[in-house]
Amino acid sequence: MNFSYRMKTQIEFGDGRSSTLTDDLSVRFKPGESFFLVTDPGVMQTGKIEPLLESLRKAHYHVTLYSDVLPNPRDEDCLRGAALMREQNASAVIAVGGGSAMDTAKTIALLSRSSGVPREYADGERHYDEVAPIICLPTTAGTGSEVTRSAVITEQATHRKMTLKHERLRPTLAILDPELTRSVPPSVTAATGVDALVHAIEGATCRQATPLSRAFGEQAMQLIVPTLKRAVACGDDMDARRTMLEGSLLAGLSFGSTDVAAVHCLAEALSSLYDTPHGVANAVFLSSVLDFNAETHPALHARLARVMNFASAIDSEQLAVAKLLEGIGAWIAELGIPKLRDLAGVRVEDFGRLADLAFQNGSTKSNVRPITREDYLTL
Ligand code: NAD
Repeated sequence: MNFSYRMKTQIEFGDGRSSTLTDDLSVRFKPGESFFLVTDPGVMQTGKIEPLLESLRKAHYHVTLYSDVLPNPRDEDCLRGAALMREQNASAVIAVGGGSAMDTAKTIALLSRSSGVPREYADGERHYDEVAPIICLPTTAGTGSEVTRSAVITEQATHRKMTLKHERLRPTLAILDPELTRSVPPSVTAATGVDALVHAIEGATCRQATPLSRAFGEQAMQLIVPTLKRAVACGDDMDARRTMLEGSLLAGLSFGSTDVAAVHCLAEALSSLYDTPHGVANAVFLSSVLDFNAETHPALHARLARVMNFASAIDSEQLAVAKLLEGIGAWIAELGIPKLRDLAGVRVEDFGRLADLAFQNGSTKSNVRPITREDYLTL
């Protein structure tokens, strides 16, 4: 098959790697230049931001701190941040946080240099003319946003979760320091880890899948499945933290060149209506979407079962698929992630709206099995 793979991001991975951030910056930026550092209140509380600010100031950089990011970040906050960044004349954005901080930073980098509002970019009404350089230090092992070309932002007025997608949104530099993920609480570790697994599965199986997205995705699955429980049980298990961060990076490299699919479409619909944490929303739908897709693509799903070690090479295709569904269901249950019926505020009356939102999501077309609004409603 013909395929292309683009990746402009310089990736640096290692224990304590964030402490030499200024060495990486000095290659591109001169002393006296300004940075716009985007993070959120939860990350601020970990005490990891102060030493970074100090090292930046010591290296004679100016820094503006923007720490107002909320989970499922809003367009209004990106617009506010962009105005502030323009005012400070910052050379680049630095995101220190999970997907919410990284996506906010990406959108600020865009809106500080190009006009308009996030919805216009998500709906293809504007060109991504100019984007400030983006530097990401992920603090969760989940989204892979540090290497992807997308930013997921919620339109405050309509509650719609939108995806801005363009090569220019791909970070210039990603510094992955497992130490930054040590303080992630167990429930967030579980949810973000499932998100990473779903990226790996959807990146490797969506309609646009390539040999590279399959290679990255399958390696990510093999790292994440046996490790996540350990990271949830003991946040100080740095071997587990390291493996999870590596897994989420590989998963990002998988879907970051292809797409996500139906699980994400349903998850983003759910988060649009109820502000459900992204990873939890993915976990809720993973088993039923796999079941749906396996009906028409049994060989592909038998392969997933074997890659994730839920089935062995001698199991028949049918048995392997059954073991995949059983294995994934049990794996999620053991992580203590709530089910759809346990989530606060979810009402059966909203299911039609959820199906509409999922169906309108651009990634619906990427699902390996064609999927209709009615299918979403049934799922
Ligand atoms: P998040 O960034 O919303 O963070 C979740 C919570 O964890 C927050 O309260 C945060 O303060 C806390 N937290 C983060 N790091 C911490 C740390 N080291 N110690 C203690 N607490 C910490 O969660 P997320 O799952 O990383 O990101 C979800 C967002 O990313 C969603 O909006 C989702 O749609 C988006 N997303 C984007 C992409 C992409 O490619 N751009 C891919 C997947 C998901």
